[in-house]
Amino acid sequence: MHAPVAPGLPLRQARGIMAETIFSKIIAGEIPCHKVYEDDHVLAFLDIAPISPGHTLVIPKQPARTLDEVSEQSAAALGVALVKVARAVKAVTGVDAYNVLQNNEAAAHQAVFHVHFHVIPKRSNDVGLGVGWRPSPLDQSTAPELASRLAAAIE
Ligand code: 5GP
Repeated sequence: MHAPVAPGLPLRQARGIMAETIFSKIIAGEIPCHKVYEDDHVLAFLDIAPISPGHTLVIPKQPARTLDEVSEQSAAALGVALVKVARAVKAVTGVDAYNVLQNNEAAAHQAVFHVHFHVIPKRSNDVGLGVGWRPSPLDQSTAPELASRLAAAIE
C-alpha cells in the first residue's frame, strides 16, 4: 500500500502539488521556452505548436492542475498578466481579434495538467481557434434554483 502523497491535503490538491508536468519543468528552467513575461507568480511563453503566430501560454508558477485549484494570490496575478499578454499579442501581431482559452481535464481537451491560459490571435475564419458552440435556450423554469445553488457554493 502506498503512503499518502501529501498527508492532510485533499487528494486532488495533493496530486496537483506532486505532479511533474512539462510546464513545471519549464518553470524550473529544466526545459527551455520562449519567454514572453514573468513575475513572482506567473510565467508566459510561446506555445510550441501555435494555432496562429503569437499563440502564447500564461501559467501560474503554483503547481495547480485545474483552474479551481489556483490560490487567490495566483488568480489575481494571472488576471493581471493575461491582460498584459493580450495587449502585447495584439500590439505585436497587429491582430485585433483573439481568443483566451482555458481547458480543465482531458474531457475538456486539457493535455498538460498544469493550469494554463491560451492567448490565441484570430486572423481569419481559417487561422486561429475554431469554436464548436452549440447553445440552447436557458431553461427559465430551473434557472433561479440553479443560480442560487451556484451562488451558495461560492466560497
Ligand atoms: P491544452 O490542450 O492542455 O490546453 O494545451 C496544452 C498546450 O501546451 C498545447 O497548445 C501544446 O502545444 C503546448 N505545449 C505542450 N508541450 C509544450 C512544451 O514543451 N513547450 C511549450 N512551449 N508548449 C507546449
